[in-house]
Amino acid sequence: MSEHTFDSRSESNLKTLLPVAQVKAREWLRRCLDAGINLKIICGTRTWEEQEALYEQGRSKPGKVVTNARAGYSYHNFGIAWDFVVFSSDFTVALWNSPDMARAGRIAEAMGLEWGGSWKGFVDTPHVQMNTGLTLAQMRERHRKGIPIL
Ligand SMILES: [Zn+2]
Repeated sequence: MSEHTFDSRSESNLKTLLPVAQVKAREWLRRCLDAGINLKIICGTRTWEEQEALYEQGRSKPGKVVTNARAGYSYHNFGIAWDFVVFSSDFTVALWNSPDMARAGRIAEAMGLEWGGSWKGFVDTPHVQMNTGLTLAQMRERHRKGIPIL
């Protein structure tokens, strides 16, 4: 298997994913770049502590609410989700509302990944995740017992 190398920000986030998810994320990123979409992976795995801190933002701490997920309730806590953003052609300006966000999402869906932009209710356009066939409750249970989810 050939190992692609991407920009340093994407690489550092890719490295936080579980190996199986990392392979998928790399393939997806390659496909997007090949399709002329300038994007980077800007978030990978969050520890449970980081998730709790994020949850408190806009609640017990200043800032605006950015997540409804407590620790153990986000796919980011299990190494199988990542966030991305499209950039201008020189990679200096993040373009959160670019139509290329949806193009990248559709490429993910074509690979059998789940794209947050297709969610009903809380739409999470920058979010991609890999389904495991397990529910979040089952994943939390495995985490508690120290059993790998993949
Ligand atoms: Zn996300």
